Amino acid sequence: MPNSTQQPPQGPGSRAPRAVKGSRLRYRAVALLTAGAAASAALTGVAAASDGGHEQPEAFSSRTVATQLAKETHGQAAALRAAAEAAEQDKSQAKDAKDAQSAREKAAKHWVSPISDDYELTASFGNSGDRWAHKHSGQDFAVPVGTPVHAVHGGTVVKAGPNGAGDGPAYGNAVVIKHADGTYTQYAHLSRIDVTVGQQVSTDQRIARSGNTGNTSGPHLHFEVRTTPNYGSAVNPMAFLHEKGVDD
Ligand SMILES: [Zn+2]
Repeated sequence: MPNSTQQPPQGPGSRAPRAVKGSRLRYRAVALLTAGAAASAALTGVAAASDGGHEQPEAFSSRTVATQLAKETHGQAAALRAAAEAAEQDKSQAKDAKDAQSAREKAAKHWVSPISDDYELTASFGNSGDRWAHKHSGQDFAVPVGTPVHAVHGGTVVKAGPNGAGDGPAYGNAVVIKHADGTYTQYAHLSRIDVTVGQQVSTDQRIARSGNTGNTSGPHLHFEVRTTPNYGSAVNPMAFLHEKGVDD
C-alpha cells in the first residue's frame, strides 16, 4: 500500500500520460485503499462480528439469566405469596379449629348449680346436727317443694329411687349421676324423679323436683358430690362447684 501512494517519477513530455497514469495509479490506489478499507472494514466487521459473536452469547446468556432470574424471582414471589396465603388460611383454619375445640372444651367443662331458681343455702358440708348420724355430707338448698332440680353436669344416672336409691331412708327419693371426670353427684329429698338408671343426661337437664322426703326439717334439696356412687365418699360440694366455675 505505501508504494501505490508514492508520486510517479516526473519528467519532460510525459506529464499527461504520467498524469493519466498517475490518475490511474491514484484510482488504483483509491480502489486498493477502498478495497483495503473494505477488507479492513470487512475484517473489522468479522472481528466485530466475531467479538459480537463471542459476546453475544454472553449478552444473550446475561439476558437469559436476567430473564430467568426475573422469572424465578417472580415465581418465587408468587410461591411465597401462595405460601403466605396458605399459611394464613391454615392459621385461620387452625384458629377456627382451636375456637371450636375451646368451645367444646368449655362446654365439656361447663358445670351449673343444681337449682336455678332462688334458694337459700342452709346446712353446709361438714355441719354437725341432730339430723345426721355423722357430719352433714352435702349442701342443703332450701327451696319450695316442686322446684326443678338440674344435673350439675352431663353424665349417666347410676341410682334413682326411694330410700336414697340404696343409700338409706334418710335421703328420701334420690338420684346419683356419674360424670366423665369420675365424680358423682347426688340429689336427695326429692318429691319426683324424672330419670331412670342408665339414662344419659346433659348439663343443666332437669332430672327431678325438689321435695321433703326422708329425714328433713323442711323442704330442700340435699346435694352431694362423691368420689364413688355410694354414701361415705362425699367431698365439699360447694368447693367442688366453685372449682368448676359455678358461683352460688
Ligand atoms: Zn342435707
